[in-house]
Amino acid sequence: MPPRIALIAHDMKKDDMVALAIEYAPFLRGCTLMATGTTGARLIDEVGLDVERKLSGPWGGDLQIGAELVCGRIDAVIFLRDPMTPQPHEPDINALVRSCDVHNIACATNLASAHLVLTQLAACALSLQ
Ligand code: PGA
Repeated sequence: MPPRIALIAHDMKKDDMVALAIEYAPFLRGCTLMATGTTGARLIDEVGLDVERKLSGPWGGDLQIGAELVCGRIDAVIFLRDPMTPQPHEPDINALVRSCDVHNIACATNLASAHLVLTQLAACALSLQ
């Protein structure tokens, strides 16, 4: 089964997410991808990825991704959070990150860890071919 990855970026981090997705596009094209609404739209429009879009984060998208995760349908979360801007849906964000910890799912919340997670997943996928 291809890796199932959730991609989320706060507004100030969306350019970083697009750049990250372009860098890993050859790998990501072989993955099952899910994203919050606006992040997903940018990944579809600017990177050409096939992404299942949930609601926008402030409207419950993080919770929808959390629900998929607790049902065992996500292998890793790339969540580029903006630590400098208060978010109206902070409880939802915390719930998603907590769910990753509860279910032992890799959760990268900054670019450095996102690179490590994607590099490792890509290496694992290669070794399974
Ligand atoms: P968005 O949601 O991708 O719809 O902007 C992300 C978030 O703010 O959690």
